[in-house]
Amino acid sequence: MKDAMPELVAEAGQQIPDAVSHSPLAIRGMTVSYGEEPAIFSIDLTAEPGAMTAIIGPNGAGKSTLLKAALGIVRPLSGAAMVFGKPLSKQRAHIAYMPQRASVDWDFPTTVIDVALMGLSRELGLLRPVRARHKARALACLDRVGMAEFADRQIGQLSGGQQQRVFLARALAQDAELYLLDEPFAGVDAATERAIIDVLKQLRAEGKTVVAVHHDLSTVSEYFENVFLINRRRIAEGPVGTAFTAENLQEAYGGRLAAGQIEQLVLGRA
Ligand code: ADP
Ligand code: MG
Repeated sequence: MKDAMPELVAEAGQQIPDAVSHSPLAIRGMTVSYGEEPAIFSIDLTAEPGAMTAIIGPNGAGKSTLLKAALGIVRPLSGAAMVFGKPLSKQRAHIAYMPQRASVDWDFPTTVIDVALMGLSRELGLLRPVRARHKARALACLDRVGMAEFADRQIGQLSGGQQQRVFLARALAQDAELYLLDEPFAGVDAATERAIIDVLKQLRAEGKTVVAVHHDLSTVSEYFENVFLINRRRIAEGPVGTAFTAENLQEAYGGRLAAGQIEQLVLGRA
């Protein structure tokens, strides 16, 4: 990563811009390529502290790639992510990540409480014993998502929505400041969607920052105050009222959304 955005990484005595130092997640100049064409190109994103931001854009727009690059899971060609004004490598303890559900294979035997306990792995280390207080914390997180009674079940035996809640419990167990969630509502039942949004709103009330890839345009204005539109390049970023516009949706989704659909979405804005 020797080319990774040197101007963002503060040299001794050098000021980093206020917008970057105050943001829970500031991405600058992020370009990722899996092949010849970049999947995301020169992306800047500045998350607002204590707010919920939706990352939206069509399939293949690079939404998951952007989160993975922000987390250092994929290696960018250029660019960097700063978390609360410091390089990602020093800030991992403050970030919780929930991957897109389809990307995880739950065939191997693991219980629900074990998954929640994974959220404590930084604290537990590899070989330290799991103590009663750790289990109590994992259970409390499962309780927040309505899954405490399933603690001893195999994760593979749960419905998709239930699995998603358990993933969220694992993220909660990390007690992070910044939550990066990849399509938390994809393919879940209505009760799970309600349970998840309630937890996210609680996190916001606690002053935490949530950045979520969101696929359902009809709930953007109800769930989120900020929006980031991407289609490999950044299209727009800002409050729903100013960035979630017909023009920006048209630019991000092109022919994939009918004019009538766009009009309805924008009329529904908060
Ligand atoms: P989104 O989450 O917006 O649907 P992704 O970030 O998953 O988009 O993917 C962006 C583009 O990069 C797509 O064209 C996808 O096929 C490609 N891509 C994603 N992950 C990989 C990978 N591991 N290897 C090769 N190509 C990938
Ligand atoms: Mg994705």
